[in-house]
Amino acid sequence: MSGFVGHGRAQVTLPEELVTVDGHLTAILDQLPTPEPIELRLSDALGLVLAEDVVSEVTVPAWANSAMDGYAVVAADLEGATVDAPRRLPVVGEVPAGRPEITSLAAGRCVRIMTGAPLPAGADAVVPVEQTSGARDSVAFHVAVAPGAHVRGAGEDLRPGQPLTTAGRRLGPADIGLLATAGVTRVVCIPPPRVVVLSTGDELVPAGDTPGPGEIRDANGPMLAAMVRAAGGVPFSAGIVRDDHTSLAHALDTNLGHADLFVCTGGASAGTRDLLPDVLAALGDVSAVKVAMKPGMPQIRGRVAGRTVIGLPGNPVSAYVSFEVFVRPAIRRLQGRRDVQRPLVTATLAEALHAPPGKRGYARVRLHRDGAGWTAAPTGPQGSHVVTSIALADGLAVVPEDVDQIPAGAPVQVHLLID
Ligand code: AMP
Ligand code: MG
Repeated sequence: MSGFVGHGRAQVTLPEELVTVDGHLTAILDQLPTPEPIELRLSDALGLVLAEDVVSEVTVPAWANSAMDGYAVVAADLEGATVDAPRRLPVVGEVPAGRPEITSLAAGRCVRIMTGAPLPAGADAVVPVEQTSGARDSVAFHVAVAPGAHVRGAGEDLRPGQPLTTAGRRLGPADIGLLATAGVTRVVCIPPPRVVVLSTGDELVPAGDTPGPGEIRDANGPMLAAMVRAAGGVPFSAGIVRDDHTSLAHALDTNLGHADLFVCTGGASAGTRDLLPDVLAALGDVSAVKVAMKPGMPQIRGRVAGRTVIGLPGNPVSAYVSFEVFVRPAIRRLQGRRDVQRPLVTATLAEALHAPPGKRGYARVRLHRDGAGWTAAPTGPQGSHVVTSIALADGLAVVPEDVDQIPAGAPVQVHLLID
């Protein structure tokens, strides 16, 4: 972040009680368990990290075959053929893909052949139909061909013992295709982590209910479950829990069992109903901390009954940003991924951004690409309750701890919210 030095540089000392964003993230990642691989069907493995090397046991193509629709020939038969002086050969049959009935070809003849069909023994080249008269019984060839022309050789793609993919690789659609080609139908991967999401707050009602006086709809529950799914985890929505010791303790007790990670929101700060730190601390090894960031200062981390718990602030923007900064990396680590962070891009700021000295600011921005590169423009009011401005954002612009503002026109690092 040293690139920002000189822009509104602040003389700051971190207040004693604050922990850094990186310190809190490291503490969370350090307490995660090592994920256990399982064997699953190839069709279920997209996006998962492979836990072992996979080597081809087969040869692909298994046999020489045609790369074109045309005629299989003995190349020497067509020596000197041109449009004006074509060579004519009798057609002795046809080989469609998957129908290897014609297994050999003698010199002086040809066979109609389709793309992917086995090349008859004796043939050594294919002439595309476009370079012939295209007839059925006797065909005129307008070109000479070199041996091997339009033939896909056996083993050109894969040979036994050749690595297909290695442990640690996250399987994409092309890996699935490659493994299927080699006949691999089961793979050993890190399964998607199960993430329980719990909203806490006396004021919350489910989104489908009409809020009574002083009540609001639970935004965080559905949003965080969606973020878990988008991050590649399996969300488990534990609903809404009241701000009282018994309900909170019961919710933890009943939900921790199906969690690789437990994420709750609300009740983490200094209000009289912010009971979560106390309840969690009574059950396990948990710290409520103030993180030097805006939005998102009050955070909880710890372990309860062998499970990692992350507590996020209740304001939806704070919860969203905190998920990006702390929960997504934890989910990626539980997926066995080494790249726990989403990419950062450098963009030019369209409007000045401010953040309190000593804290890392995250501003919701929309990215545009023009001839000069990326530009980042704030999406609107940046209050931590303004949900509309998250929905418009495709990035979080970062104002580092050691500056209190970045002026318009200056470069800024943007954490991408889009894949
Ligand atoms: P808290 O972290 O519990 O002090 O809550 C901070 C603010 O976020 C308050 O205005 C809450 O009403 C609001 N809030 C807490 N939880 C949620 C939620 N699940 N959905 C929407 N807003 C919430
Ligand atoms: Mg609350």
